[in-house]
Amino acid sequence: MLKAVTWCLCSNPLASRRMMSHHSLSGKVAIVTASTEGIGLAAAEALGQRGAHVVVSSRRQTNVDKALSLLRSKNIQVIGTTCNVGNAEDREKLITMTVEQFGGVDILVSNAAVNPFIGNILDSTEEVWDKILGVNVKAAFLLTKLVTPHMVKRGGGSVVFVSSVAGYQPFQNLGPYSVSKTALLGLTRALAPDLGQNNIRVNCVAPGIIKTRFSSALWVNESLVEDIMKQTSIKRLGKPEDIGGVIAFLCSEEASYITGETITITGGWNCRL
Ligand code: NAP
Repeated sequence: MLKAVTWCLCSNPLASRRMMSHHSLSGKVAIVTASTEGIGLAAAEALGQRGAHVVVSSRRQTNVDKALSLLRSKNIQVIGTTCNVGNAEDREKLITMTVEQFGGVDILVSNAAVNPFIGNILDSTEEVWDKILGVNVKAAFLLTKLVTPHMVKRGGGSVVFVSSVAGYQPFQNLGPYSVSKTALLGLTRALAPDLGQNNIRVNCVAPGIIKTRFSSALWVNESLVEDIMKQTSIKRLGKPEDIGGVIAFLCSEEASYITGETITITGGWNCRL
């Protein structure tokens, strides 16, 4: 009888997948930037639910405190600190704290982005480009560089960048931001061969329109939402959890042969470069 039950569990793919997903990241340490709300918070929660020890951060301590209490109320092992990813000292502090308190780093989700400019791309200034590329692209690379030696010590790791559908089809009036998101697709591919030598995978997700504070200008009224629905097959806006789960999958053993890839999560928005 026992034999029959055991066979049944192992040969039932649904049951074994469920068992795996609950603990698939136990013992892993995951840093998620810009993780006090929206997609970053959902990624932190999804990683924590799969057993990872999670480090949350953003620019404001009050936001960090709120995220910590929310995640702890869901029994997630989590610590947090302020970190503006555009600031070198903050980046160092984030990694040092993680290593001191959790003993190493296995996962980096680089999620932070800013968009200080809306308008005709020809009106964008050098200052705008420095800010957007500095936070959205350069910091993603520099954080990856900082965690690499720690991942090497653990025998491997996983990095996930957060790009956007705008990286495939630039949004009107969001030219510099869109270009920064295209750059992340390139960064993913550029890093994969070198990181792969140390068993570190690097992938990217490109969300469509997800209902968060950051994107509120795009869905604030009915007619804007209708325009978005014309582009998508699934007729609703995305939720942060739609992205968090895919990020956690990319960091799991189940994705151990995926690197240098970008997964679009857009409800069917046509994404081609
Ligand atoms: P969100 O809900 O508004 O959350 C933004 C988070 O970023 C907050 O935790 C904020 O906290 C933090 N943050 C902002 N600037 C930061 C910085 N310089 N350093 C560190 N943390 C910073 O935003 P979201 O929509 O989830 O966006 C997250 C990522 O998804 C971004 O990369 C965005 O480009 C991408 N994305 C979003 C959508 C969408 O439709 N929402 C679509 C495609 C891609 P503090 O204010 O405390 O710093």
